[in-house]
Amino acid sequence: MLELRNVQTYYGGIQALKGVSLRVAEGEIISLIGANGAGKTTTLMSISGVVPPKAGSITFCGDPIQGMPPDRIVSLGVIQVPEGRRIFPHLSVLENLDLGGFLRRDKDGIKQDLDHVFGLFPILQERRNQAGGTLSGGEQQMLAISRALMARPKLLLLDEPSLGLAPLIVQRIFQVIQRINREENTTIFLVEQNANLALRIAHRGYVMENGVITLEDTAANLMVNDAVKKAYLGL
Ligand code: ATP
Repeated sequence: MLELRNVQTYYGGIQALKGVSLRVAEGEIISLIGANGAGKTTTLMSISGVVPPKAGSITFCGDPIQGMPPDRIVSLGVIQVPEGRRIFPHLSVLENLDLGGFLRRDKDGIKQDLDHVFGLFPILQERRNQAGGTLSGGEQQMLAISRALMARPKLLLLDEPSLGLAPLIVQRIFQVIQRINREENTTIFLVEQNANLALRIAHRGYVMENGVITLEDTAANLMVNDAVKKAYLGL
């Protein structure tokens, strides 16, 4: 579904991605793990077109997408949930969700999907008229994921969904991520510093260091890999 080949991305003179190659097959959950500053967010930004790569290729369902503007990439079904949620704090929960479906014209489908996300996260239905900025961190993360689902993603890009949240909330959110993958057949590319969590729900994983992929394997193999255990699992 998604393939990156030798992707190189810069911020001015700083090269953040130094030739990243990876692939995500339809129906998979793929986790990209790595330390602070390794280039995980930049990988997502390169895919979604927010920070376009300078070299290399990115294909989605066989077609090149590098160089396309972000809104066209969204219209293909590649939807990013950014780090730090980035919900609209002054808009209500419902208005935030409406914006997720901004490019859609199928009113009935939108209504159906709204009911669906309220089923996944009932607290959002209770809070539907509340300003997004007054939600707790966990609820904001639920809203950010739900807003992305309102765009009917084929490929969901999740950036650090566990960041700053209590373990119990994180567990709930990760259960829903797995449900979205299993029940809706949505392909998921997950970036996480919490390697333990990320590998537990993934089919395969990649390890990134200093802008390059240093390891790739099934999630099960990565979890027992000595280098991964030592560097990322605290074992
Ligand atoms: P974190 O987990 O802390 O978000 P990360 O693995 O996602 O880290 P990136 O945010 O992709 O890492 O950063 C990769 C490199 O690019 C880092 O060296 C970072 O300092 C640099 N970088 C990221 N964003 C910018 C920017 N807007 N301008 C300049 N340099 C940047």
